[in-house]
Amino acid sequence: MTLSNYAFQKCISPTCGETYDVGEVLVACKTCGDLLDIEYEWDKLAIPTSLSQFEAFWQQRTVPARFSGVWRFHELLPFVELDQVVTIGEGQTLLQQADSLARYVGMDHGHLYLQYEGMNPSGSFKDNGMAAAFTHARATGAKRAACASTGNTSASLAMYAAVTRLMKAVIFIGTGKISYGKLSQALDYGALTVQIAGDFDDAMARVKEVCPQLDIYLVNSINPFRLEGQKTIMLRVLESLGWETPDWVIVPGGNLGNSSAFGKAFIELKELGLIEKVPRLAVINASGANTLSELYEQRGIRWDGGLGAPNVTDQYYEELDHTGRKASTIASAIEINRPVNLRKCLRALDFCDGVVREVSDQEILDAKAQVGAGGIGCEPASAASVAGAKLLRSQGVIGTDERVVCILTGHQLKDPTATVAYHTTDQDQFNQVLGSRGVKLASYANRAVGVPNDVDEIVKAIQLYS
Ligand SMILES: *Cc1c(COP(=O)(O)O)cnc(C)c1O
Ligand SMILES: [Zn+2]
Repeated sequence: MTLSNYAFQKCISPTCGETYDVGEVLVACKTCGDLLDIEYEWDKLAIPTSLSQFEAFWQQRTVPARFSGVWRFHELLPFVELDQVVTIGEGQTLLQQADSLARYVGMDHGHLYLQYEGMNPSGSFKDNGMAAAFTHARATGAKRAACASTGNTSASLAMYAAVTRLMKAVIFIGTGKISYGKLSQALDYGALTVQIAGDFDDAMARVKEVCPQLDIYLVNSINPFRLEGQKTIMLRVLESLGWETPDWVIVPGGNLGNSSAFGKAFIELKELGLIEKVPRLAVINASGANTLSELYEQRGIRWDGGLGAPNVTDQYYEELDHTGRKASTIASAIEINRPVNLRKCLRALDFCDGVVREVSDQEILDAKAQVGAGGIGCEPASAASVAGAKLLRSQGVIGTDERVVCILTGHQLKDPTATVAYHTTDQDQFNQVLGSRGVKLASYANRAVGVPNDVDEIVKAIQLYS
């Protein structure tokens, strides 16, 4: 048996709580349809007595599993034996202090940090979760794996399938909604790419119907194993801070897998006595895809011990259908109106004393330009975390001297179209890509300087502008 005897799946609903074997392939409770967690009989497992003990595993970096920034923390996601994990070197990511950005956000010097998950093999945080889901898929004998994707999940799935040769990847994408950086990855890595006449929410609904029919393993973040891998993003943040808890963790919200995983990580760390303080969590929506913000901030839904008013959510989705409103934002990775992990996110917000905000495409792109100017760069969705930090600072929710970690979810090169349109001197290009999204100004544009093909003119221009 490669899967652990001490791990099991459990329905998150307190009124159900049904449990399932860790080897079953499920994305929802068979009794009530709620989401599932992976849970552990911790008392039967060997867990470090302090988080600093994980540092010793750095010395095992010649073991592929310990080289992984996910499996280095295997003891905290022990649903499988360590020698049975799938890894392609994910999670080699760093927390960086970002002082120029701190000024932009309105924080004191040294208080703003960026966790750059764009440094993963496929260029987004999704690899953290894919390593775990792929591990479970292989353990259950899956031959094909599928996902619906705004781009990064499919890039990650396609990469894991191609590198490991363990499975065939099938990806479902909406029409015209995927950036070329991400689409090119799926195509290049050889995934079967199914383009559906619809948007992400449609693709998500269809993939959930198709997978059981064809016995395909689903790797969207509705899959609870994905979230086990994504917990390790928080472990690496804590590690980078010398195992101290930051005051705030700020993350963009799309399908709400990350925020849910972060919440679960802190719930478990606290329960295991490995941390004392829990950070506050801020989840940032784009205003063109603001379901969580609408439900949490406007309509007041809460986790409420797992009982929180489901009818409010259902009613909101009916309104969306009725008015034909589709998600629309330049931050394509979070262009989602029906976040599958909504309930787990509410639980995370409850445990981490969380807040939810929404930011406009203008705010997202300005923040993205500032992230880029700091030399890291990110794709639009990632910058929602920084724009959210700035908003929460201006509202006085975050203090200037608190310690804030923004998660940069995806690599700068994922969506060059948005970046180039922001910096362009071509007004038509700007209008076409960004103006149509309500973006009016590129306040931090770094525009190319046009010069004649003449050495003297070039010298003059460089002297003038530098
Ligand atoms: C998937 C993705 C998100 C959204 O994350 P969720 O866990 O679905 O909320 C945000 N940014 C990027 C770059 C992504 O790829
Ligand atoms: Zn249930």
